[in-house]
Amino acid sequence: MTQAYRNLPSVDKLLALPELKELADVLPQDTVTSLVRHQLDSARAAIKGGAEAPGSKALAAAVVEHARDLWHPRPQPVINATGVVIHTNLGRAPLSGDALSAIRRVAEGYSDLEYDLAEGERGSRHSHVEELLRQLTGAEAAMVVNNNASAMLLALSSLATGREVIVSRGEAVEIGGGFRVPEVLSQSRASLVEVGTTNRTYPRDFENAITPQTAAFLSVHASNFKVVGFTNAPELADLVTLAHQHELLLLHDLGSGCLLDTAEYGMAHEPTPQESIAAGSDVALFSGDKLLGGPQAGIAVGKAEVIQRMARHPLARAVRIDKLSLAALMATLVHYLKGEATEKVPVWAMIASTNEELQERAAIWARTVGKRGTAIQGESTVGGGSLPGETLPTWLLALDAEGIPGGAAELARRLRKGTPSVVARVQDEKVILDPRTVSLDEEPQLLDAVSVALA
Ligand SMILES: *Cc1c(COP(=O)(O)O)cnc(C)c1O
Repeated sequence: MTQAYRNLPSVDKLLALPELKELADVLPQDTVTSLVRHQLDSARAAIKGGAEAPGSKALAAAVVEHARDLWHPRPQPVINATGVVIHTNLGRAPLSGDALSAIRRVAEGYSDLEYDLAEGERGSRHSHVEELLRQLTGAEAAMVVNNNASAMLLALSSLATGREVIVSRGEAVEIGGGFRVPEVLSQSRASLVEVGTTNRTYPRDFENAITPQTAAFLSVHASNFKVVGFTNAPELADLVTLAHQHELLLLHDLGSGCLLDTAEYGMAHEPTPQESIAAGSDVALFSGDKLLGGPQAGIAVGKAEVIQRMARHPLARAVRIDKLSLAALMATLVHYLKGEATEKVPVWAMIASTNEELQERAAIWARTVGKRGTAIQGESTVGGGSLPGETLPTWLLALDAEGIPGGAAELARRLRKGTPSVVARVQDEKVILDPRTVSLDEEPQLLDAVSVALA
């Protein structure tokens, strides 16, 4: 083993190799030296584990690879062929062309982000977006923050800290990524009062739990799971009435900010912010990058007095939205204002794709791929903690992996590791690609990537 350590080249010897001299043309010498030291440390650790000493060439190659990996742009684009429209791990909602231009316009130079151009004085970053959100949801007031989790934290911290919040036991849930309703409540120093049972809760359960310490009722949309069978949840409007009779607030976490009626697309009806406001919620909270189809953002719409309390809380500054997301969010909301969301907002264009379009695309893909490809019927899902259990009928390209060592899992891995990277599903020993979540622009690259992976 000691001999193996001695066989390792010195830092200086490695730095003198042509590959690493070339690397030093791109990176500062200190950085190259530090990468070399790091590689030698890894080699020593490997020797300790029983490995042989790597040669100088192998070490230099590893240093170059490590450097390339460091400067490789990330997150890198991938083609989402999973058919999951809002895929949280793949960045949720792709943005519309107008939203992208809006980001570019404000990113390139200065903007009136917090400046009133008419008065020539400080303005509010919320005033324009608030007007749009009022138009779209019917709410008196609105504000936007970093994401829905922070909207929830801000709402509870500013409206219920030190007091009790009543939640149905079936809604004290985990949304995903460690976001748990009870933990957000405790973080905001509000105490959770759970009422009812996991499957059945009635307005009287809420009423019986009211104390002088109660600040609000919280209703959380079960966005990523479904309780079926013997169930009951109170109607939102009934909870609102009860809350207001007792001078309490009704906070509604909608999860997905769905402004359109999902039932028109053959799915279950997803509650909308408009309905929540019409039912009398004091504040309704939702995400910008789920069914709204915009950038990451948390949106709060509701009563003017309630939104004002949120906006004045010190946390509001800590969770404020950045100008790029704000620009993209406004552009996305304008698509709804103009009634063009199903054409212009990518998430809705995907949901609205017709069976005929999808069948035709899957058939063309199958023909291009040749004997390993077949067009089959299947299902896409909305995902992103929206419409659990709901699917949309689609057409898929199924790739036969027979004879490929490692089978369908290996073929899917080749697609992921290809350029561009393609993420697909594996089902019944076949690799499945869904045209619903692949844009027409991505199609030629996708088909090339498939032919490379099959070669
Ligand atoms: C997704 C979701 C959240 C968290 O929203 P982010 O925008 O991801 O922070 C909160 N509540 C519900 C019900 C959700 O579905």
